[in-house]
Amino acid sequence: MKKTLKDYDFSNKKVLIRVDFNVPIQNGVITNDNRIVESLPTINYVLENGGSVVLMSHLGRPKGQYNKDMSLEIVSKRLSELLNKDVKFLDDESVISNKVQEEIINLKSGEVALLENTRFVAGEEKNDEDFSKELAKNFDIYVNDAFGTSHRAHASNVGVSAYLPSAIGLLIEKEVKYIEGALEDPKRPFVAILGGAKVSDKIGVIDNLLDKVDKIIIVGAMAYTFLKSQGIAVGKSLVENDKLDVARDILKKADEKNVRIILPIDFVVAEEISKDARTAVVPAMNIPTNLEGLDIGPMSVKLINEELKDAKTVIWNGPAGVFEIPIFANGTFEIAKTLSNLDAITIIGGGDSASAIAQAGLSDKMSHISTGGGASLEMLEGKVLPGIACINDK
Ligand code: AMP
Repeated sequence: MKKTLKDYDFSNKKVLIRVDFNVPIQNGVITNDNRIVESLPTINYVLENGGSVVLMSHLGRPKGQYNKDMSLEIVSKRLSELLNKDVKFLDDESVISNKVQEEIINLKSGEVALLENTRFVAGEEKNDEDFSKELAKNFDIYVNDAFGTSHRAHASNVGVSAYLPSAIGLLIEKEVKYIEGALEDPKRPFVAILGGAKVSDKIGVIDNLLDKVDKIIIVGAMAYTFLKSQGIAVGKSLVENDKLDVARDILKKADEKNVRIILPIDFVVAEEISKDARTAVVPAMNIPTNLEGLDIGPMSVKLINEELKDAKTVIWNGPAGVFEIPIFANGTFEIAKTLSNLDAITIIGGGDSASAIAQAGLSDKMSHISTGGGASLEMLEGKVLPGIACINDK
């Protein structure tokens, strides 16, 4: 078990918190401030308990060089509005300097400051020792609450932990509670729904889940590779021909482990991925040679509802079709709706499934929506996340 905020007394302590402020910005405007909002509980906890807070984050990919378009100044302003208090922006192209160190030393209990984008320094992504030491200097405690980057080992999330007593923040604590909780001690039946474009991205996840779940429902383009591996013609649908053996192997292993794999039984097909395409619904066995499957069909939706009916834990990662285009989005939204009505722990891996659920207005009906697509996938693969592993044990 990792140390959490409750394991420390923050009174009069200077606390360095790694957050994920990597928000989408268009024409100088933050288009989704969810990540900033998600960081508030941890910041407020430390402030209410008498500490002072210095935040750090990356934004975009400036590749070790200053780039004013990727400055965190705009985030600092939004954070100040959300916290309803002044946020001192430590405006320095080199992120940490004598001047910035001076400001950190002078920070008082209850005050908040934000460092400039850590990726302006080349040492950040190299997990450089000197940069890590400079970041950690003048602090008493380090808190990591950036789940979205915890599968990376960089200076600002892993390097600094070597020099300070550390804890995970409230956001990471929640991610670990739900995802590890499901993997280690799930309420059963435990069902995984896996979709998206590629089998190759999900092999590690499927492998790990085969030892834990009762069934796996496969949707999205991944399904065609599985169907083709069983000798079923899939027309022009997306297939990873170099993964047919892997798909066959997964089906065999699932059989040996008594895990049921459920594949769609019908599809919405079209000639091309286009919002004006003419669509038809066909059985999985009868995809015409000139058409491609772009969503699951209504019979599959019914089958999936039935298979989920008494589930007690569900993990969902990846859309059921090309949900970005409304005529191919029905299957994905139907899965979201079904999950929202279940009496079960529902865990959504970040990315596309999370945005489909948000579009459907069902976010608050899920037990947990992960804030890190890549990080949550690695956790589901059973990998150790360096940003969490580096934190002090209880
Ligand atoms: P991933 O990043 O692997 O989760 O894949 C997400 C992408 O898969 C989305 O952009 C979907 O449009 C795409 N996708 C889902 N189903 C299909 C399909 N049947 N054919 C082509 N692309 C698909």
